[in-house]
Formats: sequence, structure tokens, C-alpha cells
Amino acid sequence: MSKSYRVKLEKEHLIFSAAHFITFAGNICERIHGHNYRVFAEVEAPLDENQYVIDFIALRDTLKEITESLDHHVLLPTTHEQIIVTPDDKEVLVTFEDRRWIFPLGDCVLLPLANTTAELIADYIATELLKRFKAKGITQLDELVVGVDENEGQWGVVTRTGDDLSVEGVQDH
Ligand SMILES: [Zn+2]
Repeated sequence: MSKSYRVKLEKEHLIFSAAHFITFAGNICERIHGHNYRVFAEVEAPLDENQYVIDFIALRDTLKEITESLDHHVLLPTTHEQIIVTPDDKEVLVTFEDRRWIFPLGDCVLLPLANTTAELIADYIATELLKRFKAKGITQLDELVVGVDENEGQWGVVTRTGDDLSVEGVQDH
């Protein structure tokens, strides 16, 4: 087969504003700061009985649910080796070497990521999309691409194919 179809969704309202900080170059840890993140998603799949790859509205609404869950939160990585995130029932204590941050639990989203880079946030959004697609019976995907722009054209992009499209195959990072 030499023909394939995909849809791409990139819309003004698929933006979320969030705070984060990452480490780089080993042990350099940024100060906390924010981005107005933008998101796009592309889905490749066989055409269904409607001659759709996927219903745009379903894709849009599902992506919007995910961006809303991140909007106006502090994004914290739970599998980072040096940024240690310890939640209790009210607060989250975060440490990096001798630095400490304490946030109200409800202000944070704890992400199973090794660093909150745009690439890994894109991968998290891809995982959440796949979970929600599965719950809605949307399972015939050939490829899923998710991009996250953290600064006016600086996109981190993940492409999922094969086993990485199955929610069972989804790995924590
Ligand atoms: Zn940043």
C-alpha cells in the first residue's frame, strides 16, 4: 500500500500556561519559570467508514482535556534522578541538591518523566491521548505525532508507531 492518510490539529486554543524547571549539562538546574506551551497532534490511520482518519472533534476535545489538566500548574518530574519530588496529602516538597521548593499539591501536576523538557511533555501528552482514545474505542492508529512548542517555534516532537501506540506498551520515562 502506498497511500496513507493523516490529520493534523494545531489550534490557537490548544495552549497551556505552566511553570517548570529542568536540569541540563549534568547538574545545572534552571530557576522556575513559565511558558505558554502550544500543542499539535497528527494521527495517521486507515480511513474509516466515514472516510475519516479520526473525527477532528474527538481529537480536538481529547487534546483540550489534556492541555486543560496542565494549564496553570507547576509541572514536576517524578522520575528525575536529581530533582526529588515528594508529595504528601497537602503539599509537594521538591529538592535539588541544597535547593528546596514547596508547592500546594493542587497547584502541581506530577508527571512520570525524567525531565520536563518539551520532548518528554509531548510524549506524556501522547500517552494521555492514547489512553483516552482507547477508552473511546479509537484503536486503529498507524502513527501518532505530538509536538509541544515552549517558545514561539521551539518544538519538541515525539513520533509513536508500532508497540509504542499500545497503552500497555507505554513506558514510564
Ligand atoms: Zn522552560
